[in-house]
Amino acid sequence: MELHKIELVADWLKNAHRTVILTGAGMSTESGIPDFRSREGWWKKIDPMTVSTVEALENEYELFHGFYSLRLADLKTCQPHNGHKLLAEWEEKGLINGIITQNVDGFHQQAGSKTVHELHGSLRSIFCSTCGHTADEEAFLNQESCSECQGHLRPDIVLFGEMLPQEVWGKAIRLIEESDLLIVIGSSLQVSPANELPFLTDGKKVIINNEATLLHDQFDMKLEGKAGDVLEAIDKKMKGGELS
Ligand code: NAD
Repeated sequence: MELHKIELVADWLKNAHRTVILTGAGMSTESGIPDFRSREGWWKKIDPMTVSTVEALENEYELFHGFYSLRLADLKTCQPHNGHKLLAEWEEKGLINGIITQNVDGFHQQAGSKTVHELHGSLRSIFCSTCGHTADEEAFLNQESCSECQGHLRPDIVLFGEMLPQEVWGKAIRLIEESDLLIVIGSSLQVSPANELPFLTDGKKVIINNEATLLHDQFDMKLEGKAGDVLEAIDKKMKGGELS
């Protein structure tokens, strides 16, 4: 890790007026949840267009259900890691103003973060794709039908072919426009429209990722490394510790 860069970002974070965090799947890989596009990611094992789509929900429910019940079951055995906890601590201390996440795992809230805008919804809430009636996780995992209309149950996530929740999207835009420091963590920035958000601020832009992304050049600072390690190093520096 380049220590002078960590020092600089720690300094920016201490002195910024409004800091916003944008997270992607790479934020949760250290918790044991695979991302989509890196070497170990889901996309290397399965074609997303066969499962994460409105078409799959309507025409290939077995496949759709199999994929999402595996992902929901993963959440029961995985936990937020120290990086999630540090972000919650930074919010509590007034160092960050909110988190915008593409993740659907709910780990930021589980770690204690309060202002979290979930752009792609949440795997943890389930509803009927026909009548909208809510159901619990167990009903979905057991492949039960809707208790009201016998329709197919689904998680409340944004599938390819669906709109982002407009209220959340509006709040995310406002948060970013008002920020003077934005830190993107663990996103390939390939999913639209979330990948447009970093460019709505006139403030400084930092990206933390374990490899370079296509948009890396458009950031003021690139910190290469694991999200948890980099966040711990920034935190240590802010608390006056020496980095080794
Ligand atoms: P992505 O898979 O496209 O990109 C993840 C990025 O994070 C990659 O560039 C990868 O190299 C990097 N990365 C992986 N592990 C890292 C680590 N420990 N530290 C730092 N960087 C790391 O993910 P995305 O940009 O979020 O977009 C894909 C879509 O994936 C989103 O729509 C999201 O809803 C969905 N998704 C969510 C989860 C989750 O909720 N945890 C998991 C998989 C996919």
